[in-house]
Amino acid sequence: MVENELAIENQNLREVLEVAKQITAELDIKMITKNITYFVRSKFNTWCSFILPKDFDSDLPIEFIYEGSKLRQKKMEFESLKPFFDFFQSAEYNQISFKQFSNDFANKDIVNILKESDPDFFLPLRGESGILGVYVQGKKEDSSPFTIEEIQFLTNVTGFGAISIENANFYRRAITDRMTKLYNHHQFEKTLEEYIQKAESGEINPFSLVLFDIDHFKSFNDTYGHLQGDIIIKDIARILLSEVRECDYPARYGGEEFIVILPDTALDEAERFAQRLRKNIETYEFPGDNKILHCTISLGVAEYSQKYVKNNSDIVSFVDKALYKSKENGRNQVTKFIYNK
Ligand code: GH3
Ligand code: MG
Ligand code: MG
Repeated sequence: MVENELAIENQNLREVLEVAKQITAELDIKMITKNITYFVRSKFNTWCSFILPKDFDSDLPIEFIYEGSKLRQKKMEFESLKPFFDFFQSAEYNQISFKQFSNDFANKDIVNILKESDPDFFLPLRGESGILGVYVQGKKEDSSPFTIEEIQFLTNVTGFGAISIENANFYRRAITDRMTKLYNHHQFEKTLEEYIQKAESGEINPFSLVLFDIDHFKSFNDTYGHLQGDIIIKDIARILLSEVRECDYPARYGGEEFIVILPDTALDEAERFAQRLRKNIETYEFPGDNKILHCTISLGVAEYSQKYVKNNSDIVSFVDKALYKSKENGRNQVTKFIYNK
C-alpha cells in the first residue's frame, strides 16, 4: 500500500517536472496557459481549466477565450477584472471553491460570467509582485470531486505557472514600450539587425521598412494638451496593430515616430500597406474632450537591398530620407526610397 502511494507520488512528481520544464522555458503567456490547461485537462478529464492572467496594462473590455473539452472555444467578456484580482490580492487563501467565492465576492457580474464555465475551484497565482493571475479549475466530466492530493498536485503545477508568468511579464516589459505596448526602440534595433543578417545570408527573403511620424504634433500638443497628445499616440499604435500581420514587427521608434519591419515584403507591397495605414489614420475620428479630432501621418518606405544595406543605420537612413521627402512635399503622404541603379 505504502509502496503504491510512493509510486503514485513519484509519477506525480515526474509529471509536475515535465510540465515545469515545458512552461518555464516559455516566455509567451498564452503558451504557458495553454500548456498547463491542456496538461490538466488530459490528466483529470475536466470540462475546462484556464488561467485569467492579470495584466495591469490591458484595455477594456477584457476578452478571454478558453477551450473546454466539450465546450470548445468560448469567449468571456469582462468589463473589468480589477475587483476580481483585488479580491485575491487581499484574501489569504491558496484555494477557494467557486461556491465559496460566489458567496464572498460582491461583484455578481463577474460571478455570472465565470459561472458559464462551471468552475470547481480557483487557485491564485502569486509572485513577488503579488497576484499574477488566477487559475480556474473546471469540474471533472464525471462530476467526482478533486481529492486533496489532486489539489496539491495542481497547486504545484500552477506554482510553476506563476514563476513562468512572472518571467514572461518581466520579459515583455523589457522589450515593449509601456505607453503603446509596441516593441521599444532597443528591441527594434536588435530585431532589425537579425533581419539584416538573415537577409544577407539568404536565409530569408528581402523585407521592407515603414517609418512614420505624426504631422505637426507639436502644435497639436500646444492646442489640445500633452495628455490628449498621449491619447492620440496610443490610438495610432492601436490602429497600427490592427493593420499589421502576425509576422510584422511594429515598434515605437521615438516620441511620435513609429517603425515597422514587414518581412517577405517588396517595396510596392510595403507602399500599399503604408497607404492603407495613412488613409485609416487620416479618416479616423479621434475622440477629443468635446469634439472629434483629426490627425495625419507622413511615411517613408524602403526595401532591404543586399548591395546597399550592410547595417541598421544604412536602411534606417534610407527610410528616414523617404519620410523627410513626405514631410517636405506637404505631409500626409507616402514616399518610397529608390536605390540608384
Ligand atoms: P512634423 O510634421 O514636421 O513632424 O512636425 P512636428 O510638430 O510633429 O515635429 P516636431 O519634431 O517639431 O515635434 C514633435 C512633437 O511630438 C514634440 C513633442 O512634444 C511631441 N511628442 C513626442 N513624444 C510625445 C509623447 O509621448 N506624448 C506627447 N503628447 N507628445 C509627444
Ligand atoms: Mg518627429
Ligand atoms: Mg511629427
